[in-house]
Amino acid sequence: MTHRMIPALSMIALVAACSSPDAPAGGGADYPDHNITIVVPFSAGGPTDTVTRMIAEPMAKSLGAEIVVQNVEGAGGTVAAGEVARAEPDGYTVLMHHIGMSTAPALYKDLGYSPLDDFATVGLVTEVPMTVVARPDLPPATLAELTAYVKAEQDTVTLANAGIGAASHLCGLLFQSAAGVKLQEVPYQGTGPALTDLVGGQVDVMCDQTTNTTGQITAGKVKTYAVTTPERVSSLPEVPTTTEAGMPQLQFSVWHGLYVPAGTPPEVAGKLSTALQAALADQAVIDQMAKLGTAPVDAADATPEAHRARLEEQTTTWAKVIADAGVQPS
Ligand code: ASP
Repeated sequence: MTHRMIPALSMIALVAACSSPDAPAGGGADYPDHNITIVVPFSAGGPTDTVTRMIAEPMAKSLGAEIVVQNVEGAGGTVAAGEVARAEPDGYTVLMHHIGMSTAPALYKDLGYSPLDDFATVGLVTEVPMTVVARPDLPPATLAELTAYVKAEQDTVTLANAGIGAASHLCGLLFQSAAGVKLQEVPYQGTGPALTDLVGGQVDVMCDQTTNTTGQITAGKVKTYAVTTPERVSSLPEVPTTTEAGMPQLQFSVWHGLYVPAGTPPEVAGKLSTALQAALADQAVIDQMAKLGTAPVDAADATPEAHRARLEEQTTTWAKVIADAGVQPS
C-alpha cells in the first residue's frame, strides 16, 4: 500500500513535518503531499470501479495531489476492506466500498476487521439502482416468465455475483426469496467480468448496478427484466420496475461511500470530505452519473457524520434481514 511505497527519505521528511512544533495537534496541515490511493474492492471495469474513477480526477484536482485507483479483489470486497483497515491512518489509503460494508459482519465468521470500529467515514457518494438482466438468448421475456423458467429448469439456471456480501449476491438472494426459486450461484471477483460472461452466454442471470449494465442494456446485448427501485430510471425508460413486473418485494439500491482507517486525523478526513463534495458538485460527474442511471448524493450526505449514521443503520438492518433469512455466516 502507499505508505509502504513511500521512499525512506520522504518518510523521514513526513515524520519530521509531523513532529515539528508548527504542526497542529492531530496532524494534517501538509496533507496531501504525495499520491493518494483509492482502493476499489472489486474488478476494474465494474460499477464500483466506474464510480470511483468518475470522482477520482475532480477530487485530485481539489486536493492538489494525484489519486491512484487500485483494484484489490476477493471475497465479496472483504480482502480490500481488511487491507485498508490495517493501512497507515494517514489519509493516503482510502477505501471505496458499497452496501457490502454493512452486510459483511453478518455474512463472514472471521472478518478480521470491524467496519464500525476500524474505519472512519468520509462521506456517501451515490446510491445506484440495480437491474435484473440475463444472457441475450435466455428464453424468458419477462420477470414472471423468468421465475417460471427457473422453476421449470429445476433450479439449474446460473446466477453471477461478485462474491458473498456483494450487492449482486444480496440482490440475488432477495430475488430467489421473492420468486421462491433457487439458482446456481457463480462467484466472480467483480461484476465487470461477470457482465462480459453474461453477454457471451457463459452465465445465465445477474442482478447488478445500472452503472455497469446500462451500456449493454441500451445496446441490446443483454435481456433486461426490471429495475429494483420504486420509480423507473430515467436513463432506462423502457425498463419496468420490479413492482410493475409483479415482484414488489424486490427493492434494492446500492449506496457507496469512502472510508479511511480509524485513527486518521479528523483534519485529513475533513479534507477528503471537502474534495468529495466538490467532485459530486462537478457538472461532468453529475452528467456521467445521470447517463448511467444515478446521481451524486446531496452535499449533506457526503459528510463523515451522515455516512457513519447510514453505516450504523444499515449494519443493524442487514444483520436482522440476514438472520431472518436463515443465511449462516461462512
Ligand atoms: N457490482 C458488484 C457487486 O455485486 C461489485 C463490483 O464489481 O463493483 O457488489
